[in-house]
Amino acid sequence: MVAIDEQETVELLKELIRIDSVNPDLVPDGAGEAAIGEFVRAYMADSGLEVVVQDSAPGRPNVIGTLRSANPVSGKSLMLNGHTDTVGFGKMDIDPLDPVERGGRIYGRGSADMKSGVAAMLSATAAVVRSGIRLSGDVIVAAVVDEEYASIGTETLVKDFGADAAIVTEPTNLSLTVAHKGFAWIEITTRGRSAHGSDSSSGRDAIMMMAEVLQSFRQHDQSQLATRNHPILSPPSLHASIIEGGKELSTYPDTCRLQLERRTVPGETQASIEVEIADILDGCRLRDADFSAESAVLFYREPLEIDRSDSVVKALHASFQDVAGRSPEYTGSAGWMDSGILCASGIPTVVFGPSGDGFHGAVESVDRDSVVQCAQILANTIVSFCA
Ligand SMILES: [Zn+2]
Repeated sequence: MVAIDEQETVELLKELIRIDSVNPDLVPDGAGEAAIGEFVRAYMADSGLEVVVQDSAPGRPNVIGTLRSANPVSGKSLMLNGHTDTVGFGKMDIDPLDPVERGGRIYGRGSADMKSGVAAMLSATAAVVRSGIRLSGDVIVAAVVDEEYASIGTETLVKDFGADAAIVTEPTNLSLTVAHKGFAWIEITTRGRSAHGSDSSSGRDAIMMMAEVLQSFRQHDQSQLATRNHPILSPPSLHASIIEGGKELSTYPDTCRLQLERRTVPGETQASIEVEIADILDGCRLRDADFSAESAVLFYREPLEIDRSDSVVKALHASFQDVAGRSPEYTGSAGWMDSGILCASGIPTVVFGPSGDGFHGAVESVDRDSVVQCAQILANTIVSFCA
């Protein structure tokens, strides 16, 4: 087993918490990832990794450290991926930037989401280097920006970096998260005809048309989506998010715009969602000859799914068993993560990280031992997967 330095891992986490890295797109005066990126760069370089800084946007650096294989016959490469940004502080009941350790937990903004996962992957890789074990495949450690907003970090990363498999170290309570949902943001615009409120023969009411659309979507959600079962995820769903239309009380509204969110499960695609919307709008047209609407998918994120027989899942499973003395749990997550981008770019990806609490909340903390255990399991996984 690779020896993890427990104290160093915990101190590293505390150092990361002390560096303000609030996402500047979420919070206008957020500090951003430049300072934490520089800290991570130095840590990786000191650990003996080959470091590349990749700007996702000005002042928003991904920091990528590679541990090169020692073997000319190349084995499988493994990417570890974690984000360095955090959400804002809001009204926190703890000091967000001064980590306190109490009752086996470490408190602070990002302690769980996800500076603990970043500390675990950095410490694990440093321990592998120190062990002197020769690997046949590269280890790519990616500390990325902007996961909490638009994920420009991992999107930029996959343009230049790939691997045979990836582990995203978001907090999973040390379970193996093998699936999560994706989502689509959809806009529907209904087209009516503007007319004086008294002129019912000329006016076509775009808001009433949208009522028909909403009714159809609700029915679709309840009768179709709610019955789609996935082995570990809850059914797909949709909800209306934003609606606007109309100008004044005495006028037929000529347009109404609706934005809605559709949460997807593995197997659903952007194309299948587009067909679904077209069918719903066709149904509205059949019931009302004057119905007119167009739709667009504004933004789309893929869901994640990886087979339990995939080699990275098996390596992680075996390593977990060695360290914890029991089999790991397998979980699915309703929320979307950067793993969706890695999976969509063709890298089999699993999510595995420490046990945290209070993500984005007033009291955020992580279980200290789970961070050390996570580092230990990651180090052993690196050695077995990249052997
Ligand atoms: Zn996160």
